[in-house]
Amino acid sequence: MTRAALLHRQLVFGLSLAAAFFLSIVIISSLAGLKTTVAPEIDLSRTALALDAFLLVILGGWFSFRIAGGLFFSFAAVVFVFLAGALSPLPVFLWFLISYVLLGWLIYRMIESCESQIAAFEVDREKYQNEKNALEVSYRSKGEGISIFFEKYSTYYHLRKTAEELSTTLSVSQVCQMVVARAGDFITAGDAVLVTLAAAPGESASLAVVAWKAVKNYEKFIRKEGDMFDEWVVRHNKRLIVSDTHQDFRFDSHQTLKQEVLRSLIAIPLLHGGRVMGTLRINASRAETFTNDDLRLLDAIGALASSAISNAKLYEKTEELAIRDSLTGLYVRRHFYERLKHEHRRALLTKRPLALLMCDLDHFKSCNDRFGHGAGDLMLIRFSELMREATEHAILARYGGEEFSVLLAETTKAEALAVAERIRARVEHASFVLRREPVQMTVSIGVAVMPDDTLDLQALVEKADQALYKAKGAGRNRVCSSDI
Ligand code: GH3
Ligand code: MG
Ligand code: MG
Repeated sequence: MTRAALLHRQLVFGLSLAAAFFLSIVIISSLAGLKTTVAPEIDLSRTALALDAFLLVILGGWFSFRIAGGLFFSFAAVVFVFLAGALSPLPVFLWFLISYVLLGWLIYRMIESCESQIAAFEVDREKYQNEKNALEVSYRSKGEGISIFFEKYSTYYHLRKTAEELSTTLSVSQVCQMVVARAGDFITAGDAVLVTLAAAPGESASLAVVAWKAVKNYEKFIRKEGDMFDEWVVRHNKRLIVSDTHQDFRFDSHQTLKQEVLRSLIAIPLLHGGRVMGTLRINASRAETFTNDDLRLLDAIGALASSAISNAKLYEKTEELAIRDSLTGLYVRRHFYERLKHEHRRALLTKRPLALLMCDLDHFKSCNDRFGHGAGDLMLIRFSELMREATEHAILARYGGEEFSVLLAETTKAEALAVAERIRARVEHASFVLRREPVQMTVSIGVAVMPDDTLDLQALVEKADQALYKAKGAGRNRVCSSDI
């Protein structure tokens, strides 16, 4: 029952009570009047009892609220009238009878209309409540939909940003560093993010940690090489989620039970041309840290990382090819000249010496003529190896044909002459076999050093060239400088 209906009922109850009281007084006074004038033998106590019963009947009829209550009320009034009639024959009691029946009927109608209104309000209320509930449900589901949408949008946005960021560099190490940083921002549950790369794709044994990011106390546990989990990922070319290393039967329990700071992890393979070149993984010192959603997200980052690392690798390889001679692996003349300019500037600034050696194989044309161009190529390869063996921290280049150059930073003339002599001697004493025939090979070397010979870059090259010609002119297989 609503609050309004309850108030209504109480109000009607109060009014009825007052009305009944008022009527009782009127009846008593009427009967008292009758007693003195018409029937003095009337027993007043019986009349008062009848009036009390009448009051109770009114209340009973009222509380029943229904037609039965009304009828009962009317019947009670009839009884009262008969009782009163027994005391007094006056027709005034007929008037009471009619007025009580009418009163009962009015109360009944009023209550019924109130009840029907209350019922209608209840129906409306229920309808609005249902509408409100439906609206709440739809609002909640829309809200959830919107928050899922925002979550997806934010993931997409950050992945796009990551892709853009990764495309800003073509250095493998920088790409890997960005990948661990972004993966750490995306998946915050772990303690460390690592990228491992293999020496060659598919080689699980040679995985090296090339980039990592860890929380403060975890830094000291970062290893330099990949472990059994990385090897598993590379071998199977599959994503890996380990909820608890102590309970994962895929891995050697002797090893995993020793893992104190690595209780759970997720890892994905990084691909290069369809083959696994490394792994991207996140470690955690607590078990049950990661969800499948984390693994999926790591996979999405891994896909971006794979292509970015592949591109950077290809770029570095292309760049290396562009500056390296394909036959000997030494720098080509163009790159050598760049390095020469750089070292020259540095030597001027630091006021440190810089030595340049120009080497030319002696009578190489005849070697070619005798054994063929292929054999000549082998000689060039062998010579470049001898140069590498005879020098340390030198910048070596194939200057052209069978001419080679050596740049020695922070090297005095005496030291440069010693290095040149070492090369010459090694070549002279090396055993070359072409078509099963031992062949003697010699080299002439010209040496120029700054600041001794010149401070000018162009002049340094010319002086080294001149010294080389000097060595050729002096009979070959020797080392010359501008003053020797
Ligand atoms: P020298 O220097 O002692 O005066 O005599 P040389 O016979 O070595 O004369 P030169 O330096 O002018 O000869 C260069 C020769 O090197 C000519 C060419 O056949 C040969 N040559 C240049 N580039 C290559 C190469 O890539 N492979 C081979 N096999 N031979 C080359
Ligand atoms: Mg030559
Ligand atoms: Mg030559």
